[in-house]
Amino acid sequence: MSQYDFDLFVIGAGSGGVRASRMAAGFGARVAVAEDRYLGGTCVNVGCVPKKLFSYAAHFAEDIADAAGYGWDIAAPGFEWPRLVTNKNAEISRLNGIYRNLLISAGVQLIEGRARFIDSHHVEVDGRRYSAERILVATGGWPHVPDFPGNEHVISSNEVFFLDSLPKRALVVGGGYIAIEFAGIFHGLGCETTQLYRGDLFLRGFDRSVREHMASVLAEKGVRLRFNSDVARIERNADQSLSVTLTNGDQIETDLVLYATGRRAHTDDLGLENTSVTLDDKGNIRVDEHYQTSDPAVLAIGDVTGTVQLTPVALAEGMALARRLYRPEEYLPVDYNDIPTAVFCIPNIATLGLTEDDARAKGHKLKVYESRFRAMRNTLAGRSEQSLMKLLVDKETDRVLGIHMVGPEAGEIVQGLAVAVKAGATKAVFDATLGIHPTAAEEFVTMR
Ligand code: FAD
Ligand code: NDP
Repeated sequence: MSQYDFDLFVIGAGSGGVRASRMAAGFGARVAVAEDRYLGGTCVNVGCVPKKLFSYAAHFAEDIADAAGYGWDIAAPGFEWPRLVTNKNAEISRLNGIYRNLLISAGVQLIEGRARFIDSHHVEVDGRRYSAERILVATGGWPHVPDFPGNEHVISSNEVFFLDSLPKRALVVGGGYIAIEFAGIFHGLGCETTQLYRGDLFLRGFDRSVREHMASVLAEKGVRLRFNSDVARIERNADQSLSVTLTNGDQIETDLVLYATGRRAHTDDLGLENTSVTLDDKGNIRVDEHYQTSDPAVLAIGDVTGTVQLTPVALAEGMALARRLYRPEEYLPVDYNDIPTAVFCIPNIATLGLTEDDARAKGHKLKVYESRFRAMRNTLAGRSEQSLMKLLVDKETDRVLGIHMVGPEAGEIVQGLAVAVKAGATKAVFDATLGIHPTAAEEFVTMR
């Protein structure tokens, strides 16, 4: 009989924690998971899912406008923000219930409340102590808003999904995933939208063609882009609007400021000081390739470790960890190469593998195939917007090193291509693949 209440105690029922708990329990371990906020974590409650629903909502503006060229007369459409939020909340509640059932039916003990380490083998939740042979930290991340005068007037992605009303004017600060996705959402829903980024071109880390293309598409749509700009201070006016003063002295009047300036590991009040877990210089929990922290009894996965902050990565880490601990014969380490990713801005970006700059910096001699074209759907719609597709091929091996796309359904298209790249596809394999006509995706197999 074990001296502990559980074999594995998981802190956080988000993407990584739920997957690790379910898998470990399925392999016969005695598992508990503590969650203090919402089942499914960031992704389900204030991340991927509500964001994608909002992005669909924003898309209708263009779809309705485009319908005219196809013969449809649609009277000036109205939009009701509260209805969107209510329906979104109902869908998230449904998903919360599914997560609850998944955990319970897998035999995981669900403990609702905030967990805190007492020592390496003990945690406390709402005054109750639990012991475990191993404790897994899967507490995710939290939005980071820099310090400046008036930062109490801004909101983060945690609040944006629950606004009582849609602002008339919105200012989005940041140049990464969340900022560009919300610039598209606000703009699509009819807000006068400005996106402010401190560098000279947003989406740092993405291929330069994608970054430049996206900047021109957004500007053409009417999103005001202000690069090389930063906020000095924000003041609230008597009418509740906000005056934002930039470091160069310019002033922007707006009704809402959304800060999307990165996320930090969520370790607040976790009691890590009662263990020998160490953090890196950014505050992430330091782990080795087996998600082992510097405390022998404590493991960590997902955003809290500073890994690539994507749900499929947290899921893969949870699965790999459960297998290594409780089904070692099936253990497969996570492969962090060629992680496909999409940004659900409007239009979508999807990307996989190396950027052109990174490939050259790594010494690859490249063949670059780039195509810009107007998707067929845009012809009758009278929309001049172009899609971008780019393939980077190693001249010596013919291997496809990078795939980059801006255009409708880019995520759906690049997900399929990711399988080919994982299998080591060469450009010759792409060339030998017949297209599906007429699609945008066929461009990836017809570029010569
Ligand atoms: P989380 O999902 O954050 O789960 C951590 C859980 O731990 C939370 O439920 C939290 O309440 C709980 N917790 C924390 N501390 C304690 C404690 N002391 N006791 C008990 N419970 C605790 N990724 C994608 O792949 N695609 C997307 O489209 C996408 N969109 C996103 C949009 C937004 C706005 C945001 C913010 C993120 C998005 N992400 C997306 C990233 C994705 O949500 C994260 O990478 C993923 O959720 C990380 O999973 P995790 O298990 O590490 O942490
Ligand atoms: P990102 O890291 O993507 O972007 C942060 C942005 O904020 C960067 O443009 C950064 O600039 C800027 N920034 C950072 N600090 C400051 C500062 N002090 N002042 C001004 N600007 C600053 O973070 P997000 O918050 O957008 O998202 C967090 C993570 O969540 C993403 O990286 C992604 O992994 C995940 N996510 C995934 C999504 C998806 O899969 N579709 C959607 C949303 C989030 P600089 O580039 O100059 O450093």
